[in-house]
Amino acid sequence: MDLRDTPEEAAFRAELRAWLDANLPDEKRGGRGGAQRFDDAFGREWSRMLHEAGYAGLTWPKEYGGAGAPYSFQAIFYEETARAQAPGHVGVIGLGMAGPTIMAHGTDAQKRAHLSKILSAEEIWCQGFSEPGAGSDLAAARTRAERRGESYVVNGQKVWSSFAHIADYCILVTLSDPDAPRYQGLTYLIVDMRAPGVEVRPLRQITGEAEFNEIFFNDVEVPVSNRLGDEGQGWQVAMTTLLHERGTLGFALTAALEVGVNRLLDAAREHVDGDSSLRERVATEWIELQALRYTNYRALGTLQRTGIPGPEGSAIKLRWSEQNQRMTKLGRELHGPEGILDDGWWHHQQLRSRGNTIEAGTSEVLRNIVAERVLGLPKGR
Ligand SMILES: Cc1cc2nc3c(=O)[nH]c(=O)nc-3n(C[C@H](O)[C@H](O)[C@H](O)COP(=O)(O)OP(=O)(O)OC[C@H]3O[C@@H](n4cnc5c(N)ncnc54)[C@H](O)[C@@H]3O)c2cc1C
Repeated sequence: MDLRDTPEEAAFRAELRAWLDANLPDEKRGGRGGAQRFDDAFGREWSRMLHEAGYAGLTWPKEYGGAGAPYSFQAIFYEETARAQAPGHVGVIGLGMAGPTIMAHGTDAQKRAHLSKILSAEEIWCQGFSEPGAGSDLAAARTRAERRGESYVVNGQKVWSSFAHIADYCILVTLSDPDAPRYQGLTYLIVDMRAPGVEVRPLRQITGEAEFNEIFFNDVEVPVSNRLGDEGQGWQVAMTTLLHERGTLGFALTAALEVGVNRLLDAAREHVDGDSSLRERVATEWIELQALRYTNYRALGTLQRTGIPGPEGSAIKLRWSEQNQRMTKLGRELHGPEGILDDGWWHHQQLRSRGNTIEAGTSEVLRNIVAERVLGLPKGR
């Protein structure tokens, strides 16, 4: 595989770099992510600018408002926005999960209603999969959807729903037939977060921010026309969502990690002196980053050949989350106790990284996937 840019990729990279230089104000660079990106109006404004310039939904087909570009362009987008320390598009779940799922399973009316608004950040989406009794085991979802005429009446609770406090719509996995065999009783719905009976309660995280939420559904009426896929096909539709969640995440995660490793190198130049064990630990993080980057290229190769994300996505997410925790801990160590008095960037990253080994599949679950689907080992249970 030739990892150098093709002439088209090089031209795209140069054009994007110039656009970022011209459009991204210096004071908006280097933000710490997390809930902060929703604090001011700039998050949505920046997302709208990305869309107008054609950088939102780069790989989405043109008929849905995307650029119809190859996946390598999306990878370049992540690399260059990380280099510029630019904020991301606020529609994380819409762009990465809800949009691709609607494209795969949605009706024409659903596609027309939502896809372009996801790109322009007019609609923010959240994901209602996890419940107090169903996380890794999504098939155990108990939020009930009862069919009554042309509506489903939804009752139950979801938890850990990122961005639900600002979301306009939710992709919701419900139990429509409690008597059906496992995997066959689930139905996937698009829920208007402003519908009567939807109540969102933010949950404060270890960072002090509330990025995720509980969602309660009390007799919420959802039109049957908001169903994605057939009744009872919710499991298959949810698998499309999860495949995209991990499949396209790698470059974005690695790009964010690169920002951290570059800061770590700056901190090391300032604080390390002759301590060889610290120097080794810093060098290890740089080497691990390169390994992750090449695994991403391998994943990109699979995606471009087959159009379907390969199992590399699970391995990348696993290695990235563990590295991010180690790397941010080292960053805090290098700054010493006075690090807490500066802008708090390392402190915030270290606290936020604790959730990395839980969200989008826990490390244990990802190890099971790699063991069973990549290495062909016998099933754990
Ligand atoms: C920051 C953050 C954001 C999130 N955002 C969302 C969101 O937007 N929408 C959403 O729906 N959910 C979201 N989640 C929830 C997340 O998907 C779940 O927390 C995760 O799937 C684990 O589920 P659980 O918490 O119920 O833990 P459990 O599934 O109960 O797991 C508990 C422990 O058991 C282990 N375990 C479980 N099954 C196995 C197995 N088969 N083999 C070995 N070990 C196992 C797990 O690894 C874990 O250590 C978010 C979580 C975090 C931390």
